[in-house]
Amino acid sequence: MKIAIIAHDGKKAEMVQFLTEHKTFLKSAEVALVATGTTGTHVERGGMEVEKVASGPLGGDAQIGAMVTQGELDAVLFFRDPLDKHPHEPDIAMLMRLCDVHNVPLATNPATADMIIESIVQRKES
Ligand code: PGA
Repeated sequence: MKIAIIAHDGKKAEMVQFLTEHKTFLKSAEVALVATGTTGTHVERGGMEVEKVASGPLGGDAQIGAMVTQGELDAVLFFRDPLDKHPHEPDIAMLMRLCDVHNVPLATNPATADMIIESIVQRKES
């Protein structure tokens, strides 16, 4: 199982907090993480292993989108900051569109991310 992690700058602390809360499960379920560059660095500082692609504004969201297209991802957890502007808005829209095209679960806020993780836990247990 592989999950992509992306967090806009205003949401990075919240993302690390979220992953820390689910760290034990993610490790025991052998969930691999892939993240955009700066998000990945924060995740590493939180003590977790993660594969890093380019930073979001430099094409990282597009790389994650390509992974979605190739069927490599089981979910995308994207903590967006709706109160900030992003120079790579077209890439963000592309990533979200590709998740819909390929029916890949996409969380754009912590509450939904929580539900996705919860459902992965339940599937593992059943
Ligand atoms: P970052 O990219 O993790 O490199 O900051 C995230 C984004 O803004 O899409």
